[in-house]
Amino acid sequence: MTTDSTGKTSTVTQATLVKKAREALAYRPADVSPQRRVQRRYTMRRWSVRHARLLEWVYARFSSLFLALHPFWSAVGYARAEKPVKFVERQVKGLMFDCRMCGQCILSSTGMSCPMNCPKQLRNGPCGGVRANGNCEVEPDMPCVWVKAWEGAQAMRNRQAILDVQKPVDQSLRESSAWLRVTAQAARERESLRSSTA
Ligand code: SF4
Repeated sequence: MTTDSTGKTSTVTQATLVKKAREALAYRPADVSPQRRVQRRYTMRRWSVRHARLLEWVYARFSSLFLALHPFWSAVGYARAEKPVKFVERQVKGLMFDCRMCGQCILSSTGMSCPMNCPKQLRNGPCGGVRANGNCEVEPDMPCVWVKAWEGAQAMRNRQAILDVQKPVDQSLRESSAWLRVTAQAARERESLRSSTA
């Protein structure tokens, strides 16, 4: 029972008021999801997963080309090349994979499905909340990136790569070019191999 400002008593108890307030604040993910409001279809992302094998082949050639250009990157300076390369990388991967520019790309291990699109940013498989239709528990209209990763990985030549344990995201590499970093690393490994066998 409560008493209002005029001194009148009411039969509505405090517990009822609290219960009503709690019901009004009940967590309903389907209603708060921005993706649900705009009803995205994830068309390009789905296409990339369906063509994971083709993209795996393309990326192998592309990374070889980038490595072959190592003398050019060195002459220009990796740091100076970072800005234009990052711009192109963002446009291309943003269109095809909804890339978030984490700087540590693992698409080759995840069936061409970017794990950074997982609302929980899980890099080693799905959480326990995947819906029965294979969609995300947080974004009900979005296919779970890990369900898609498994589908894409099955089509790839290196399908075992999805079983690799991924390190936690290094936040200091965010907004940097994964293409250049991988190239610089491969060039360094190649040179140290050459010097050890010389
Ligand atoms: S793993 Fe990182 S770099 Fe690769 S597509 Fe996803 S956000 Fe972009």
